[in-house]
Amino acid sequence: MSRELAIRHLDRQTALLRSVEQALDRIEADAFGICLCCEEEIPEKRLNAVPWVALCLHCQEELERRRAAGELEEEETFLSAA
Ligand SMILES: [Zn+2]
Repeated sequence: MSRELAIRHLDRQTALLRSVEQALDRIEADAFGICLCCEEEIPEKRLNAVPWVALCLHCQEELERRRAAGELEEEETFLSAA
């Protein structure tokens, strides 16, 4: 594995870990299952598939679109780890 690939992999692992930690925080704050972006409830089916997901499908797609366009802020990247 090249150095760059290894770093990218590590970045992804770090983002995923942050997502899980944030989800645990939301459980403690009694806000689990609420979209961080629009504050709508995330459907249970989606939570069952990815329990640490932070965004509803609509907001996730918007985030993916902005990421593809290179518009994403650094602090937003962890939101899209799923
Ligand atoms: Zn949303």
